[in-house]
Amino acid sequence: MEDNIFLKIIRKEIPADIVYEDEEILAFRDIHPIAPVHILIIPKKSIESIARMETEDVPLIGKMFLVARGIARDLNISEKGYKLLIRVGKDGGQEVPHLHLHLLGGARLSENIHPVK
Ligand code: 5GP
Repeated sequence: MEDNIFLKIIRKEIPADIVYEDEEILAFRDIHPIAPVHILIIPKKSIESIARMETEDVPLIGKMFLVARGIARDLNISEKGYKLLIRVGKDGGQEVPHLHLHLLGGARLSENIHPVK
Protein backbone atom coordinates (compact mmCIF):
# COMPACT_ATOMS: atom_id res chain seq x y z
CA MET A 1 0.00 0.00 0.00
CA GLU A 2 1.34 3.41 -1.02
CA ASP A 3 2.00 6.05 1.62
CA ASN A 4 -0.28 9.08 1.68
CA ILE A 5 -0.98 12.28 3.58
CA PHE A 6 -3.52 10.71 5.97
CA LEU A 7 -1.14 7.89 6.96
CA LYS A 8 1.39 10.63 7.76
CA ILE A 9 -1.21 12.40 9.93
CA ILE A 10 -1.95 9.10 11.73
CA ARG A 11 1.79 8.66 12.40
CA LYS A 12 1.92 12.32 13.59
CA GLU A 13 4.55 13.10 10.98
CA ILE A 14 2.51 16.07 9.84
CA PRO A 15 0.25 18.16 12.09
CA ALA A 16 -3.53 18.14 12.07
CA ASP A 17 -6.24 19.74 14.20
CA ILE A 18 -7.37 16.51 15.86
CA VAL A 19 -10.84 16.46 17.42
CA TYR A 20 -11.09 12.74 18.27
CA GLU A 21 -8.70 9.82 18.57
CA ASP A 22 -8.85 6.24 19.80
CA GLU A 23 -6.91 3.09 18.96
CA GLU A 24 -8.80 2.58 15.69
CA ILE A 25 -10.00 5.96 14.50
CA LEU A 26 -8.72 9.52 14.07
CA ALA A 27 -10.79 12.62 13.32
CA PHE A 28 -9.40 16.02 12.40
CA ARG A 29 -10.45 19.28 10.76
CA ASP A 30 -10.22 19.45 6.96
CA ILE A 31 -7.43 21.78 5.88
CA HIS A 32 -9.72 23.36 3.21
CA PRO A 33 -13.15 23.40 4.86
CA ILE A 34 -16.20 23.68 2.60
CA ALA A 35 -18.59 24.18 5.52
CA PRO A 36 -18.35 25.88 8.95
CA VAL A 37 -17.84 22.39 10.42
CA HIS A 38 -15.75 20.10 8.21
CA ILE A 39 -14.20 17.11 9.95
CA LEU A 40 -12.59 14.05 8.38
CA ILE A 41 -13.05 10.73 10.19
CA ILE A 42 -10.55 8.06 9.15
CA PRO A 43 -9.66 4.52 10.19
CA LYS A 44 -6.08 4.03 11.37
CA LYS A 45 -6.09 0.78 9.39
CA SER A 46 -4.94 1.35 5.84
CA ILE A 47 -8.08 0.97 3.68
CA GLU A 48 -7.84 2.72 0.31
CA SER A 49 -11.56 3.28 -0.20
CA ILE A 50 -15.00 1.73 0.25
CA ALA A 51 -14.25 -0.12 -3.00
CA ARG A 52 -11.44 -1.93 -1.18
CA MET A 53 -13.17 -2.58 2.16
CA GLU A 54 -13.41 -6.18 3.37
CA THR A 55 -16.27 -7.82 5.23
CA GLU A 56 -14.10 -7.77 8.35
CA ASP A 57 -14.01 -3.94 8.12
CA VAL A 58 -17.77 -3.60 8.65
CA PRO A 59 -17.56 -2.98 12.45
CA LEU A 60 -14.71 -0.48 12.00
CA ILE A 61 -16.59 1.46 9.32
CA GLY A 62 -19.75 1.35 11.42
CA LYS A 63 -17.73 2.85 14.27
CA MET A 64 -16.63 5.72 12.00
CA PHE A 65 -20.32 6.70 11.78
CA LEU A 66 -20.74 6.46 15.57
CA VAL A 67 -17.69 8.71 15.99
CA ALA A 68 -19.17 11.17 13.47
CA ARG A 69 -22.43 11.23 15.43
CA GLY A 70 -20.53 11.89 18.66
CA ILE A 71 -18.49 14.72 17.16
CA ALA A 72 -21.65 16.27 15.72
CA ARG A 73 -23.18 16.20 19.19
CA ASP A 74 -20.02 17.65 20.77
CA LEU A 75 -19.96 20.49 18.22
CA ASN A 76 -23.68 21.20 18.70
CA ILE A 77 -24.71 20.60 15.10
CA SER A 78 -26.68 17.44 15.81
CA GLU A 79 -30.09 19.03 16.18
CA LYS A 80 -29.94 21.16 13.02
CA GLY A 81 -28.41 18.31 11.05
CA TYR A 82 -25.36 17.64 8.95
CA LYS A 83 -24.10 15.76 5.94
CA LEU A 84 -21.92 12.64 5.91
CA LEU A 85 -20.03 12.05 2.68
CA ILE A 86 -17.68 9.36 1.42
CA ARG A 87 -16.12 9.77 -2.00
CA VAL A 88 -15.03 6.62 -3.83
CA GLY A 89 -12.45 6.69 -6.62
CA LYS A 90 -11.95 9.06 -9.53
CA ASP A 91 -15.56 9.69 -10.57
CA GLY A 92 -16.53 10.04 -6.92
CA GLY A 93 -13.93 12.80 -6.58
CA GLN A 94 -11.76 10.98 -4.01
CA GLU A 95 -8.40 12.71 -3.80
CA VAL A 96 -6.69 10.98 -0.88
CA PRO A 97 -6.40 7.17 -1.27
CA HIS A 98 -7.23 6.44 2.37
CA LEU A 99 -10.88 5.92 3.36
CA HIS A 100 -12.37 9.05 4.96
CA LEU A 101 -15.82 10.13 6.07
CA HIS A 102 -16.56 13.85 5.72
CA LEU A 103 -18.70 15.39 8.47
CA LEU A 104 -20.14 18.65 7.11
CA GLY A 105 -22.39 21.03 8.94
CA GLY A 106 -22.90 24.33 10.69
CA ALA A 107 -24.93 25.74 7.78
CA ARG A 108 -27.61 24.63 5.33
CA LEU A 109 -25.68 22.78 2.63
CA SER A 110 -26.51 22.72 -1.07
CA GLU A 111 -26.52 19.62 -3.24
CA ASN A 112 -23.64 19.50 -5.69
CA ILE A 113 -23.66 16.16 -7.42
CA HIS A 114 -23.99 17.19 -11.05
CA PRO A 115 -21.69 15.59 -13.62
CA VAL A 116 -18.58 17.65 -14.36
CA LYS A 117 -18.92 19.30 -17.78
P1 5GP B 1 -11.66 13.73 -0.86
O1 5GP B 1 -11.75 14.70 -2.00
O2 5GP B 1 -10.58 12.69 -1.11
O3 5GP B 1 -12.98 13.14 -0.47
O4 5GP B 1 -11.24 14.57 0.41
C1 5GP B 1 -9.92 14.79 0.79
C2 5GP B 1 -9.97 15.92 1.77
O5 5GP B 1 -8.75 15.94 2.48
C3 5GP B 1 -10.15 17.29 1.14
O6 5GP B 1 -11.33 17.89 1.64
C4 5GP B 1 -8.88 18.04 1.52
O7 5GP B 1 -9.13 19.40 1.82
C5 5GP B 1 -8.40 17.29 2.74
N1 5GP B 1 -6.97 17.31 2.95
C6 5GP B 1 -6.02 17.06 1.99
N2 5GP B 1 -4.80 17.15 2.53
C7 5GP B 1 -4.98 17.46 3.85
C8 5GP B 1 -4.07 17.69 4.93
O8 5GP B 1 -2.84 17.62 4.79
N3 5GP B 1 -4.61 17.99 6.14
C9 5GP B 1 -5.95 18.06 6.33
N4 5GP B 1 -6.37 18.35 7.57
N5 5GP B 1 -6.83 17.85 5.34
C10 5GP B 1 -6.35 17.55 4.12
